[in-house]
Amino acid sequence: MPELPEVETVVRELNRKLKNKTIKSVEVLLPKIVSLGPGTVSPKRQVSSSKVSKFIRLLKGQKIRLVARRAKLLIFDFYRGTRAPNLTRSSGTLSQVGEGVGERQVNQNTELTTLRQMGVKIDGSLAMLVHLKMTGQFIYLKKTQLNKKIRILNKANASLLLMPCKYTHVIFSFTDGSKLFFNDLRQFGYLKLVADSELDCVKELKDFGYEPLDKSFTLEKYLEIVKTRPNGKIKQVLMDPKLVAGIGNIYSDEILFHAGVRPGRKVSSLKHQVLGMIFNEIKRVLRKGIETKGSSVGDFIRTDGSWGRMGKYHYVYGRAGQECKKCGTIVKSEKFNGRTGSFCPSCQV
Ligand SMILES: [Zn+2]
Repeated sequence: MPELPEVETVVRELNRKLKNKTIKSVEVLLPKIVSLGPGTVSPKRQVSSSKVSKFIRLLKGQKIRLVARRAKLLIFDFYRGTRAPNLTRSSGTLSQVGEGVGERQVNQNTELTTLRQMGVKIDGSLAMLVHLKMTGQFIYLKKTQLNKKIRILNKANASLLLMPCKYTHVIFSFTDGSKLFFNDLRQFGYLKLVADSELDCVKELKDFGYEPLDKSFTLEKYLEIVKTRPNGKIKQVLMDPKLVAGIGNIYSDEILFHAGVRPGRKVSSLKHQVLGMIFNEIKRVLRKGIETKGSSVGDFIRTDGSWGRMGKYHYVYGRAGQECKKCGTIVKSEKFNGRTGSFCPSCQV
């Protein structure tokens, strides 16, 4: 499942590739992938053909002002007309973690204001929220690349496929002849259209905790929130999106390895100094993930079909049974609250 660095990679790439492009047409091949309005999208959703037609009609002619991110949600902000609305200095930087984003003061309870500050304008137009869930992916091809074959699964023996393929559920065609394909093998992902004015009512946007790479996420704040879960196991607490957004199985394993802490340790058993090390590793490891364009050890691929390089830097995730890169001890894996965590029994205590 894509985590913060993978989603951030997609957002940065799409932002660069799609900005100011005009949607010429949209094809929805699997209706349940799309949705309208701020309500929660259920996995068993059914979408009528009239809703699908409305989804398509609303998007036709829209221009993409920017693509941003909040936790693991992608936010496409649209406009109509010939010129993009005036952009503020910080516009578009929601995705540029650590580059100016931290300059703002963020109140955890007013994230939507933050979204506005970051350039998702409430201008009476549309926004599209996208969750990739387990296996959602975007592939973008220029007009001249449309015959390029993509290996959409991260297995060396997976076949190269022309887009659209059998896992493509939505296709956006732009006026310059380029196309954006939304593929999803497991079909848990969604594309949801909301009016900008409805953003305030989107539950998924309200429920997230801190953006871990935001400057407003400080050690003091971190200590405050972990202490609300004294009996929680540290891995589980790290992965709780209501506390800190965007950390899943891969990055929690890697963060805890570098901090030298076993995944099953109870929060109350960890000293301040150790929690401080975990806090530093949250920021460092996630930044490394973004710098290396995400981890393709799972099913993640970039918008051109290439793989992220973070997997090369994994010390424990996906390495159970192999030697620890630091000390040579065999990496172990265990279940923690239903999720498998990998760790080195020597380096982590
Ligand atoms: Zn070790």
